[in-house]
Amino acid sequence: MRTHAQAVVIGGGLIGCSILYHLAKFGWTDVVLLERSELTSGSTWHAAANIHGLHDSTNISRLQHYTMALYKELEAETGQGCGIFQPGSLYLAQTEAREHQLRLQEAKARRYKMNFYEVARDEAERLHPLVDFDGIRCIMYEPEGGNVDPSGVTAAYAAGARQRGAEIHRFTPVTATEAQADGSWIVRTPKGDIHTQWVINAAGLWGREVAAMAGLQLPLIPTEHQYFVTETIPEIAAMGRRLPSVADRDGEYYLRQEGLGLLIGAYERKMKFWAEDGTPLDFGHELFPDDLDRIEENMLRAIARVPAVGTAGVKKVINGPMIWSPDSAVLFGPVPELSNYFCCNGIIPGFSQSGGMGKLAAEWMIEGEPSLDMFAWDMARFGHWAGKAFTKARVHDQYSHRFKIHFPNEERAAGRPVRTRPAYEMQKRIGAVFGLNFGWEHPLWFAAEGEPREETIGFTRQNWWGPVGREARMLRERAGIIDISNFAKYEVKGTGAEAWLNALFANRMPKKIGRSCLTPLIGKRGGIAGDFTVTRLADDEFMVIGSGMAERFHQRFFKAVPLPEGTTFRSRTEDLCGFNVAGPGSRDLLQRLTNEDLSNEAFPFMQSRRITVAGIDVVALRVSFTGDLGWELHCKATDQVALYGALLKAGNEVGAGPVGSRALMSLRVEKGYGSWSREYSPEYWPQEVKFDGLVKLDKGEFLNRDAYAAIAEKPARDELIMLSIDARDADATGGEPIFLTDGTPIGQVSSGAYGYFVEQSLALGYVKAGSARAGDKVSVAILGRPHEAILLPHPPFDPEGKRLRS
Ligand SMILES: Cc1cc2nc3c(=O)[nH]c(=O)nc-3n(C[C@H](O)[C@H](O)[C@H](O)COP(=O)(O)OP(=O)(O)OC[C@H]3O[C@@H](n4cnc5c(N)ncnc54)[C@H](O)[C@@H]3O)c2cc1C
Repeated sequence: MRTHAQAVVIGGGLIGCSILYHLAKFGWTDVVLLERSELTSGSTWHAAANIHGLHDSTNISRLQHYTMALYKELEAETGQGCGIFQPGSLYLAQTEAREHQLRLQEAKARRYKMNFYEVARDEAERLHPLVDFDGIRCIMYEPEGGNVDPSGVTAAYAAGARQRGAEIHRFTPVTATEAQADGSWIVRTPKGDIHTQWVINAAGLWGREVAAMAGLQLPLIPTEHQYFVTETIPEIAAMGRRLPSVADRDGEYYLRQEGLGLLIGAYERKMKFWAEDGTPLDFGHELFPDDLDRIEENMLRAIARVPAVGTAGVKKVINGPMIWSPDSAVLFGPVPELSNYFCCNGIIPGFSQSGGMGKLAAEWMIEGEPSLDMFAWDMARFGHWAGKAFTKARVHDQYSHRFKIHFPNEERAAGRPVRTRPAYEMQKRIGAVFGLNFGWEHPLWFAAEGEPREETIGFTRQNWWGPVGREARMLRERAGIIDISNFAKYEVKGTGAEAWLNALFANRMPKKIGRSCLTPLIGKRGGIAGDFTVTRLADDEFMVIGSGMAERFHQRFFKAVPLPEGTTFRSRTEDLCGFNVAGPGSRDLLQRLTNEDLSNEAFPFMQSRRITVAGIDVVALRVSFTGDLGWELHCKATDQVALYGALLKAGNEVGAGPVGSRALMSLRVEKGYGSWSREYSPEYWPQEVKFDGLVKLDKGEFLNRDAYAAIAEKPARDELIMLSIDARDADATGGEPIFLTDGTPIGQVSSGAYGYFVEQSLALGYVKAGSARAGDKVSVAILGRPHEAILLPHPPFDPEGKRLRS
């Protein structure tokens, strides 16, 4: 066994082997995989191994398509069979909402040139004669859907990796991982130690135990999961061809051919956790006792749809463990608090995603950043707040509603509240309906007396649409008070503070006390890794404000630039709270609570000051994400209730009141402001998001300056545009494809909202550069159906920024 390696992968399941293969393929041949037992000794060996290409998330669809194509390449490359069957998949919609979901996916498939289309009932009956299609509203077909052989695929990754020089050691359990001062690691095993640059935790069911060796807690918990295989079904035996799999998600089961029978699996409501306190180290190629009663309801629905299931005998039952994260997506990426420690844990559809995960993991480690935006999968989306109780409650919800549609704007209640701020109870009393943001409860909107506080969910406009409109109009007409405590806040202090910020961010830091600047953070490939407001509070003190949900994500970047001696950096997100008081009446409202002169001359746009409001010390910034006249007020968390009370009281006198984040979304879209993880992501270059003016190449070195310099002169590939859409009962929410009127796909929506003040259904989105210009008519696939839209020359609200600067 090698004693030194570039990377050590822990775990020889499907995922570990794919990561090893991709590392070797992309040039790191000095890599080792350690497996405590035989390969596939976790969830992998007993999986149903269904594969699908399409997913609600576009980037996940891309990875799934990559994975499906890779299996064939692997076979050719290694000579190891992957047991690939691709008879296609039929997707059934029983409800209107499911039909909307499938139609939207079909439109996305057209946009990304993926193979997924509607078939008529007679064609579906020809494809799968055993299915009773009664009551099905819409049927989609994905010709590449199917399944693979779990051991074959894992062995093929392993063979491909070995062919490129990678080493695999079976029966070699990792017993310790020890971080070294230079960022490297010692990995200990009974067969000897390896000194490695990178450690990759791909330990599947034991992901928690392996993480704990590095002092890390991962929000993961295993559950049982069952499927069964029937005896031979005579109709299938007589068919002489393979039947497509059936995704009847409203029925909450999956079904495909296995041998000459059928395989049916279910995510049941009466789900069962396993090994909550830790996966036993001696668990191996074992299964749990059958418990088909638990999945009876799902099975009855399967039998109603495919009657042959009911008459065939059960040949075998597989009841095995799988391990889940709180949102059922993988925990992916380098751990921000550790050096060179990569996680890929909690992956549920491993067989659909293994290739994509391996590819992006290898890119991230070798090139410093994945080629696709992985924020939605980044392990940094969870923080220390995602503890055991939260994880358990969320996993219960995720498992038992595995096939439920995840609607846009849906806020699931499980495991909440987990983090609240002092004003939470007060907000609750005045009607707040809360959402979850990086663990924090924050008001989405406020129900008036007598209005329901339970949100309805769906693709169309829901019961919050009216109240949110009321708030947005109130703010634009008078004023509104928005809790912005969610924003991430950082304090940088010391003689080297300015130099450090200049070495981190792309813009030039403000020279004068009381001045603020907007600045992008540049990623490894020159794209947008973040957008921040930096304010100079004193000669040697700055306040940095960024996206709250990206706080842990951004740690990786902050860590990359060493702090000068005597300079400190600390997060103030937990101990500072904030309100944005905005709207044309905001000056009048605030002036009732402070002696500070808030006139435009005394306190202009983009300036800041420490002032008192209602006797409370705040940092006041004259900025507003609403695009209106307004101030951000940041106070100590202990003062939040008093400040809120005073603002609401003064607000009452001027016809203003509380406003939630849904209205803020609408207001910022009216103004054309972009937001992190929607318009801004590492996939987009500054010139594509109109941030190039904020990148100062002439100021000297800054993080990833060279990466930006390499693409700075390149023309934009995509353009950020704004659309007004002829939509009546559903607005765009993000992800909807944009087509020219002749059906040519040109882009997709990044954010959508109804603009209540301008009375238009609006969207921000990206289109291929030069494919359309202001005034052009295009078509947006809301609910998967074409909706006429027009490219706007400028944002419909206050395009000249007069209100902002008034
Ligand atoms: C019943 C069932 C049906 C499923 N059906 C499907 C399906 O149809 N389609 C699909 O895509 N997915 C399916 N899955 C999920 C799929 O099995 C997983 O996504 C996948 O196997 C996860 O692979 P992994 O490599 O992450 O983890 P694992 O397979 O758990 O592998 C982890 C490996 O790490 C090793 N290891 C652990 N600790 C150490 C250590 N300290 N030192 C060295 N090695 C260690 C283990 O021995 C193990 O081999 C199913 C799962 C179940 C349970």
